Amino acid sequence: MTTRDCHKVVRWFRRSLGLREWTINLAIGESGPPGRDIDGDPGRLGQCWPELRAKTATIWVSPDRCRLAGIDPIRVLCHELWHVCLCEAGVENAGDDRSECLWDQLDPILCEAYTHKCQT
Ligand SMILES: [Zn+2]
Repeated sequence: MTTRDCHKVVRWFRRSLGLREWTINLAIGESGPPGRDIDGDPGRLGQCWPELRAKTATIWVSPDRCRLAGIDPIRVLCHELWHVCLCEAGVENAGDDRSECLWDQLDPILCEAYTHKCQT
């Protein structure tokens, strides 16, 4: 997955899930975005830092870690983008086990919707 692929996913998400007003900064690679700490959890595949008042989100995804874990990085990117939607809806609860479990069920569906409808 290249950074270009990721921008395509972001474009689709912005259109399909009402994130047009948001600025979404991507950091794709092993190191996290500048000023953000990702070192605490080596098993982490991605992370999202949404800032509601600024309508800006920074998303980091590590394609290498995804590959090692056998998980499609697009799925992880969808997961992180979903955090932005939930932040906007006021129900964001990042890191909470129950909500993360729900996101885990939703990610493959979002990923599949993107893959089948938007890449052709
Ligand atoms: Zn999450």
